[in-house]
Amino acid sequence: MVHPGIAADLKKIVSDYVSSHGEPAIDLARTALSHPETGYKEVKTAAATAAAIRTLGLYVREDIAVTGMTATIKGGSPGPNIAILAELDALPVPGHPNADPETTAAHACAHHCQLGNMLAAAIGLQAPGVLDSLSGSVTLMVVPAEEYVEIEWRNEQRKAGRIEFLGGKPEFVRLGELDDVDICMMTHVTTEDPHDGFGVFGANTGLVAKFINYRGVKSHAGGAPHLGVNALNAAHLAIAGIHAQRETYRDDDTIRVHPIITRGGSVVNAVPDDVRMETFVRGATINAIRGANEKVDRALRAGALAVGATVDITTLPGYLPLAQDRILATIHRANAEALVGPDLVHEFGMRGGSTDMGDLTQIMPGIHPYVGGAVGRSNHAEDMVVDDYNLAVLDAGKAMAMTVVDLLSNNAAEAMRVISGHKPAMTKDEYLALQRAFLSERSYTE
Ligand SMILES: [Zn+2]
Ligand SMILES: [Zn+2]
Repeated sequence: MVHPGIAADLKKIVSDYVSSHGEPAIDLARTALSHPETGYKEVKTAAATAAAIRTLGLYVREDIAVTGMTATIKGGSPGPNIAILAELDALPVPGHPNADPETTAAHACAHHCQLGNMLAAAIGLQAPGVLDSLSGSVTLMVVPAEEYVEIEWRNEQRKAGRIEFLGGKPEFVRLGELDDVDICMMTHVTTEDPHDGFGVFGANTGLVAKFINYRGVKSHAGGAPHLGVNALNAAHLAIAGIHAQRETYRDDDTIRVHPIITRGGSVVNAVPDDVRMETFVRGATINAIRGANEKVDRALRAGALAVGATVDITTLPGYLPLAQDRILATIHRANAEALVGPDLVHEFGMRGGSTDMGDLTQIMPGIHPYVGGAVGRSNHAEDMVVDDYNLAVLDAGKAMAMTVVDLLSNNAAEAMRVISGHKPAMTKDEYLALQRAFLSERSYTE
């Protein structure tokens, strides 16, 4: 058990210090908001983040998985290592008020606030007298590419050997950056209720990602369609085939398949011969994802067979379902409740979205709580904006720093309780083997 007196005193010091010294954390979030960049291209965001971490007197290891970085804060004595994560990337959202006019990238998932709340937590832990009382260390882990977008471009980067996985955290695992981490946590902003508080517990789906290329035969669309093979019609039939199988999915499996066409032809007066699609296949369990993925492949082949086109299907490892550690989540929840009151901390259930924090929670104890402070239809919508930086950055950072104090004070007794009570679903090697097994590149012709 935590020695209640010592931990409570330290947590008050941490929280007060973030209140009085946390402004640079909000500044970092606002700076990141002003130059949104998509995954593996977060050059300016990474530079600003590294500079902000350096102002705390910390050494920053940069250029990990292209744009990622880590920095370590050491406690007074050795002990477990806790990673506080933040994501660098934005996603393309045309019409967002803070979108980059050239790329349309925008922080419509509010990852800029994660950079801020991670920094706020680091600032709090550096309050005078705190670190000396902690046994262990904290690694600030800034990762690229959480939004699984621009699949065609990232797949080219993969083929060129610049990355293996299209998501940043799988890359961090592959590169060994999680090898010395015992516990991980990250706080994500949401537009969901409670706007003025936190969402805790809950789970997210996992996913595999697919890039699909239908190849047909070009001919004059009006004069000679009989000489063409219409790749767009093949894609249309495939999408209908995907829809036709939705009734076969069990509710508990939370299957989500939502294809888009990224290239639908070249000119209107020629039969489309090159049509490209991207999709996710999401599900609550790895087996559910596998089963749905086979059905999607069947529909994709059917589209090609119906019109005599060829389809190239690239299936890429995605993210694993989120499995939060209950003991750790309970510790964090108590800190969130201390900050905003129990009525403003809601328990979340199964969520249809996915995150590569899921991957980390399969191999170690971790949490992925949500914080409010944002408005709009939902994350990823063009009207999603953060309207409460005190909550999304400072309070979220305080809750994580207070959780670190709980874990690492009193000779890290609580951290040891979390670690010994946690049975990881798989080892790092098993994780990498599982993800690599999802990769396939197949071609079908009638
Ligand atoms: Zn997102
Ligand atoms: Zn996000």
